[in-house]
Amino acid sequence: MATPLSRLDLLRPRSLDGALRMLRDEGPLVLLAGCTDLYVGFHFGTMREQRFLDLQGLRALRGIRRRGETLVIGSLATYAELIASPLVRRRLPILAEASRWVGSPQIQNRGTLGGNVANASPAGDTLPVLAVSEATVVLRSLDGERRVPFGSFYTGYRQTVMRPDELIVAIEVPPVEGRQWFRKVGTRAAQAISKVVIAAVRAPHPRIALGSVAPTVVRVPRTEAVLAGGGTLAQAQAVLMDEIQPIDDLRSTAAYRRRVSANLLAQFWDDTPLQLRAPLSLASTAAAEG
Ligand SMILES: Cc1cc2nc3c(=O)[nH]c(=O)nc-3n(C[C@H](O)[C@H](O)[C@H](O)COP(=O)(O)OP(=O)(O)OC[C@H]3O[C@@H](n4cnc5c(N)ncnc54)[C@H](O)[C@@H]3O)c2cc1C
Repeated sequence: MATPLSRLDLLRPRSLDGALRMLRDEGPLVLLAGCTDLYVGFHFGTMREQRFLDLQGLRALRGIRRRGETLVIGSLATYAELIASPLVRRRLPILAEASRWVGSPQIQNRGTLGGNVANASPAGDTLPVLAVSEATVVLRSLDGERRVPFGSFYTGYRQTVMRPDELIVAIEVPPVEGRQWFRKVGTRAAQAISKVVIAAVRAPHPRIALGSVAPTVVRVPRTEAVLAGGGTLAQAQAVLMDEIQPIDDLRSTAAYRRRVSANLLAQFWDDTPLQLRAPLSLASTAAAEG
């Protein structure tokens, strides 16, 4: 049975400091952003918690901007805002691309990047993007701010290093050198949770991250090392299939996820050839011969 919403407490702070004070003094409280993940719990009556803190009024969590060379994305940025942002499209096009594949326009209008990160699902579509771009999660509590490298944020299935008195204020992304690539494989084009989701960057040392193939989103350093060291694609595919730990579940099987991950690796490699410039002498010789 659905949770009767009238029985729940909703605290609505007007400032970030006010929110952090409520979190410390009036907790435990569940943070509520776009509510697209939380609502599922209300709908099915599986939500046990009764007290919520609404982040929507906090301007400090909004906005997408540059600070020097760093792209700073407020945790309340919605998918629709990420898709529309010229900064995101220019600096991190795979984040805009991943956002286009989330749910449906309704979910894209409400769901936030901070919610996707904090929800800690291994299938979260933006998470492989943040993993390959070596993003930083900015956490704030009344004790101050701490910056956690994205690669250290998750500690296990649906587990993060975030404390109950902290919230995510922003995600910071450094400049990404190399060609960016993203694919999601689901049952259909919209409203599908990923069977496998992958983001990658083609650079002299390629970076590759996958979702739905392990208890958390994962980088695959052994596979990356094979490709960086000049190994063949077949060698890299064999290492990748050994490196990930998919499971059988409602949406797919482990065997399918391994095979699809290897196929996606091949697609990434084919789609992003390194653009080698011919040395000047060769180019001018060719021009002379032509
Ligand atoms: C129909 C449907 C389709 C969906 N499709 C997809 C999909 O294709 N791909 C995908 O990745 N996801 C999908 N989702 C899941 C969901 O939309 C995303 O995870 C979304 O980004 C969650 O953001 P939110 O703002 O709605 O989070 P909320 O539901 O408000 O919160 C989610 C969790 O994050 C915590 N939280 C939120 N903001 C913060 C913060 N700033 N700091 C700390 N903790 C915070 C909350 O306490 C809660 O635990 C779908 C959901 C639905 C209902």
